[in-house]
Amino acid sequence: MHIRKQRLLTPGPTPLYPGALQAMMASDIHHRTEDFRNVYRAVLAGLKQVLGTSHDVLVFSSSGTGAMEAAVSNLFSKGDKVIVCSAGKFGERWVEIAAAFGLEATLLKAEYGLPVTADRVEAALKAEPAARGVFVQASETSTGVAHDVEAMARAVSRTEAIFVVDAITGIGTQPLDIEGWGLDVLVGGSQKAFMIPPGLAFMALSPKAWKFAETASLPHYYFDLRKEKKNADKGESAWTPSTSLLLALNATLDYIRKVGMDRLVENAQLLARAARAGVTALGLELFAPTSPAASVTAVKAPEGWDSGVIIKELRNRFGCIIANGQGSMKGKIFRIAHLGYFDFADLFAVVAGVEIALAANGFPVTFGQGVAAVEKIYAQAALGQKAGGA
Ligand SMILES: *Cc1c(COP(=O)(O)O)cnc(C)c1O
Repeated sequence: MHIRKQRLLTPGPTPLYPGALQAMMASDIHHRTEDFRNVYRAVLAGLKQVLGTSHDVLVFSSSGTGAMEAAVSNLFSKGDKVIVCSAGKFGERWVEIAAAFGLEATLLKAEYGLPVTADRVEAALKAEPAARGVFVQASETSTGVAHDVEAMARAVSRTEAIFVVDAITGIGTQPLDIEGWGLDVLVGGSQKAFMIPPGLAFMALSPKAWKFAETASLPHYYFDLRKEKKNADKGESAWTPSTSLLLALNATLDYIRKVGMDRLVENAQLLARAARAGVTALGLELFAPTSPAASVTAVKAPEGWDSGVIIKELRNRFGCIIANGQGSMKGKIFRIAHLGYFDFADLFAVVAGVEIALAANGFPVTFGQGVAAVEKIYAQAALGQKAGGA
């Protein structure tokens, strides 16, 4: 009771891979030297490998939103018609970026907790044949909803438009076949399933997307895809990069390759299933039951409760930092993350912590009921038929 270890258990930043933290200590390195170029080349090759693509992958020293903005400012022109899928706060970010750069967006909005369906994307493309781009989140982190990007990609790839996917919490939590499905622009960020601190963003670009870069006329300077690509081909970044984070990324990419991207995804999906089972066993309701993401599980606070109470209890009693809702969802939901460097021991702890938090505030709880549901999923997956837990 008197010792509390801080545990950062949010859907970004996520828990850090220790090997990456150690690698950061070697960051007294100059970015225009062969030593650094070796690291940078390894990072670019490693990203392509874990993302499973031969497309160009670029790295930016910015948070994920920088790469989102770069996709808009480098691939489109003022007045371009685009279709934006918005199922939460990050979908709204696409809407805001598109508006900031003067794109003419058709908005496909889903109520918080629900996904935008691929049918709607297909219909919108039919209604707007001049559309130049379709924007979506693979995983909408604010609501815990996953989108069917494969089906959406099928619709987009039949058109002249490019498909721009914010996969910042989709990478490492759901299958994403960049070339097989036709994901023209895929955006990632360091502080999610890559298990390192915030400050790097990535972008994979298809040849179709590169064609857009040739004619796009929106202003941009810092985020210049063609300049970045020219430098990347020489093993360098356009500007001074975050060397410490690149060293961290190099280490974490080794780890992800060792684990295997498929297994990293499977890990998140298994934890997600267990998280859903755990909280529903306690009588709590899922916020996004129809198309739940494997990155994060959004849980409704009990009727009449402020979800902040549960979050505060976890922080004060156990040093566990979990996420509240964003925007109008604040106080209504709490979010249990399971992307990147998360394991079952983390989930046992969080679900047990939720049980204690509920009980401490008078919610009827049978201790162990939520944890037992998590254990059952673990046992099925890891112990097979032999599992005899009650
Ligand atoms: C975290 C996140 C982002 C990026 O946010 P930054 O704060 O700019 O790193 C974008 N989209 C989604 C879905 C995210 O989860």
